[in-house]
Amino acid sequence: MTATPASDRLARLFARIDQSRDELVALTQALVRIPTVNPPGEAYTDCAELIGRRLAPRGFRVEYLRATGARGDTPRYPRTNIVARLEGRSPGPCVHFNGHIDVVAPGAGWTVDPFAGTVRDGKIFGRGTCDMKGGIAAAIIAVEAILAEGIPFPGAIEISGTVDEESGGYGGVAWLAERGYFSAPRVDHVIIPEPLQVDRVCLGHRGVWWAEIEMKGRIAHGSMPFLGVSAIRGMAAFLAAVETELYPALQARRTAMPVVPDGARASTLNYNAIHGGLAEDHDGLPAPLVADSCRLVIDRRFLIEERLEDVRREIVDLLERTVRERPGLSYRIRDIMTFEPTMTSPDAPVVRALDAAIERVLGRPAAHIASPGTYDQKHIARIGHLHDCVAYGPGLLELAHQPDEFVAIDDMVASAKVMAAATLRLLGVPLA
Ligand SMILES: [Zn+2]
Repeated sequence: MTATPASDRLARLFARIDQSRDELVALTQALVRIPTVNPPGEAYTDCAELIGRRLAPRGFRVEYLRATGARGDTPRYPRTNIVARLEGRSPGPCVHFNGHIDVVAPGAGWTVDPFAGTVRDGKIFGRGTCDMKGGIAAAIIAVEAILAEGIPFPGAIEISGTVDEESGGYGGVAWLAERGYFSAPRVDHVIIPEPLQVDRVCLGHRGVWWAEIEMKGRIAHGSMPFLGVSAIRGMAAFLAAVETELYPALQARRTAMPVVPDGARASTLNYNAIHGGLAEDHDGLPAPLVADSCRLVIDRRFLIEERLEDVRREIVDLLERTVRERPGLSYRIRDIMTFEPTMTSPDAPVVRALDAAIERVLGRPAAHIASPGTYDQKHIARIGHLHDCVAYGPGLLELAHQPDEFVAIDDMVASAKVMAAATLRLLGVPLA
């Protein structure tokens, strides 16, 4: 038996992926036509089974894992994940592709059917084409090409389709990570084909602190507000302090992480919602009352150079000062969600493998970026203690969650080649 030269092997692998273009389109369309809208978590089982039915005949051992008891899991909306594993010919490392199968609601403004998978001008349109069913399809086609070429490899390849990423990932990657699905020795390298662009490797993301702040005052008659303590005025004083002191300070903080877009290299704060006084759904005339409560939901994105306790404390300090200056006021903070920033080393094996593959396929060096928002990498790092994990996939981040979302077919083909070449390198199969 004569060994195939490695460079020919890669050329043949790429040629096979080129020939699979129509299949890649058809697979993406099939995934998009299952409207896995979250919330509430529609049709997860159908979508998981589509992936499972595709991979089982290729020799994968397929497991359907329902996150029973996870947030949102009900008989009507089961949180069904799929993990598929294919063993190589000898022991070795495991490369895992993880994609979330849930999509956000289509919303208004579409000029095409969001769940038809319409192909036009070299693009596939539909909710989830970009974020991230196109990426899942590209990973599947990449692995299928390796198998079809009969390239022997050690170790194992895994492909998972997981739920609820758009709502925090608790019934998806976090649930699986708690059960060892994203830890050594089972898995060594993880690639998440989120839409970060075909020539960019995403090393991680900023941290997030969501919290609700309630300012509390004392109710009184609206004609004699001096007899009460207005929680709305208290909140306004706090917001004024945030505006003049905290916002400029946040803007001045810049991370060394390569976060895109550039505005997100600073520390940021968003007000998600604010409400004070009477409920907004009352009928008729409002009652003349001094507001005894005002609630604010904040979304604070922090940098890897910042510590969560400091992030929290600078808000608390301004609240403390506000209530000290205004007798009768008090406040309360409720944490809603917290995730630490995470970043994989640019020298990690998965990054080097993708860098080399991008350069080979696209003929230009890969860019390293970090994401302004979080994605499932946080669970893999924090719960699975697996740090050789990045996001890499086709599609433009800016199109995610937008009307007329699309993914370019050329980008899917190119990223499938990158994923295939990176997989072989990570498994230790000689390439050149
Ligand atoms: Zn996504």
